[in-house]
Amino acid sequence: EEIKKTHFIESIIKEDIKNNKNNGQVLTRFPPEPNGYLHIGHAKSICLNFNMASQFNGKCNLRFDDSNPTKEKQVYIDSIKSTVSWLGFEFGTPLFASDYFDRLHDFAVQLIKKGKAYVCSLKADEIREYRGTLTEPGKNSPYRDRSIEENLRLFARMKNGEFDEGEHTLRAKIDMASPNINLRDPIIYRVKKASHPRTGDQWCIYPMYDFTHCLSDAMEGITHSLCSLEFEDHRPLYDWILDELETPCHPRQIEFARMNINFTILSKRKLQRLVEENHVQGWDDPRLPTLEGMKRRGYTPESIRKFCNIIGISKKDSRIDMGLLESCLRDDLNEKAPRVMGVLRPLKVTIENYPDDLTEELVAKNHPQKEEMGTRTITFSKTIYVEQDDFMENPPKKFFRLGPGREVRLRYAYLVTCKDIVKDEAGNVIELICTYDPQTKGGNAPDGRKVKGTIHWVNANDCIEAKVRLYDRLFKDENPEQDKQDFIENLNPHSLEELESCKLEKILALATPETVYQFERLGYFCPDSKSMDSKDMDAKDPDSENQNNKN
Ligand code: ATP
Ligand code: MG
Ligand code: MG
Repeated sequence: EEIKKTHFIESIIKEDIKNNKNNGQVLTRFPPEPNGYLHIGHAKSICLNFNMASQFNGKCNLRFDDSNPTKEKQVYIDSIKSTVSWLGFEFGTPLFASDYFDRLHDFAVQLIKKGKAYVCSLKADEIREYRGTLTEPGKNSPYRDRSIEENLRLFARMKNGEFDEGEHTLRAKIDMASPNINLRDPIIYRVKKASHPRTGDQWCIYPMYDFTHCLSDAMEGITHSLCSLEFEDHRPLYDWILDELETPCHPRQIEFARMNINFTILSKRKLQRLVEENHVQGWDDPRLPTLEGMKRRGYTPESIRKFCNIIGISKKDSRIDMGLLESCLRDDLNEKAPRVMGVLRPLKVTIENYPDDLTEELVAKNHPQKEEMGTRTITFSKTIYVEQDDFMENPPKKFFRLGPGREVRLRYAYLVTCKDIVKDEAGNVIELICTYDPQTKGGNAPDGRKVKGTIHWVNANDCIEAKVRLYDRLFKDENPEQDKQDFIENLNPHSLEELESCKLEKILALATPETVYQFERLGYFCPDSKSMDSKDMDAKDPDSENQNNKN
């Protein structure tokens, strides 16, 4: 894959290597908190960290930032591991911040011994009050000047479980008047009487994110700690902690802008609301921007990596067009997806002059340009299905499909002419009676007459039935939160359409979720990994024509 023009992080790393910083080594990390599923925004960070590592012959760690016992779950850990692998990145043995709990505790003791941390007995709301505001400096805690011995004793008792949650915290002693609120004696440890998914009940004090993160980076020997812009204000704290403590190295934190995409929402917390309030059918709902949802929808890892490369890395927040993501997928699938025929809204066609019990075999290409993708056999008989949309009783002149007396080409088969229409009592067209021209096998007339339209079809006597889901965008507006509206109000009520008795070419009976197919003239579809038994198909990208009709 091509990597786009050099971005600023790449330039920094190049410069560091040139100056032989870190002995010219590069070690990055992707540090998810296992409190939810990864979304496409995380893919930006994953691609950046793994690409920088491989570009400079380094490594990238997958480290779970699992210091908050009440939020982390094993299912998230499992999902994150398999998602990073699926995206195509190798991370060796995953690492866990919780594996560093002993050493993090020792670092905290070291800070106390240096007189740079103290046990504070203010309650949470008092701490907030003492912290001050953007315009007002904070006030020192009355517990700030406790002796080192008292702090050590109290911290040990916190660790031994002698205090309730919220009674005491351990705080770094920095500067309550700092213009940067993160430096106003941040809490670095708190009591939490909660079981941790990995350390069980071994601990009842847990380190805060800012303390855990920089030290985990340093203990692993990370050279470049790449994170999103919201951590810019935390960098002084990151550096303060590493300057105060003796650590193996002092990684360089570099911030970049988060990914935002229009017509969707990239925040674990907000995605959680969509799931919990049942606006979607779970974390892997194909309409969600979660990577599991996108995988189920039929997104390929290549298309996601390409998208991340194209949008690049910068320091400026922006909103990327969903159309770009979709076109990355379409470009990839256009190359790879085998072509098949499927009829979503079937209309029966009887070919009256075709022999009653004949079934012919025809050869169809699996890809219009790529010969190496081969061919397959499809069958043709007296009864077939075509798309309801491909027939009009009173068609305008420019409608090059079926209408009374009109001739059309059946893809790979014959030219057929519509002779008659069968209607039900309500007046709906339920069947077409056609004739075929036996001289036109393969689609060309020996007399050279021009037939403009070619339509897809499936053979009635051996096709399979399937339920097909057509997905549209989850939100109606580009910015689902414009004018401060609740994004729930902006959900697109037509984001999912289910079609019950679609008719598909029989070869699709063998389809597995790993392969995305193009249904000729319709769009891209794949079997739903969640409901393989019933052979449901998920639509990736209903063709634009359909989408316009719908909107
Ligand atoms: P969210 O805000 O959606 O809950 P998060 O930032 O809390 O996500 P983490 O598990 O903490 O999720 O993120 C792991 C890494 O992924 C972090 O380094 C974070 O900066 C990065 N990341 C998360 N969302 C994005 C995004 N939209 N664009 C780029 N990087 C992101
Ligand atoms: Mg988070
Ligand atoms: Mg975050």
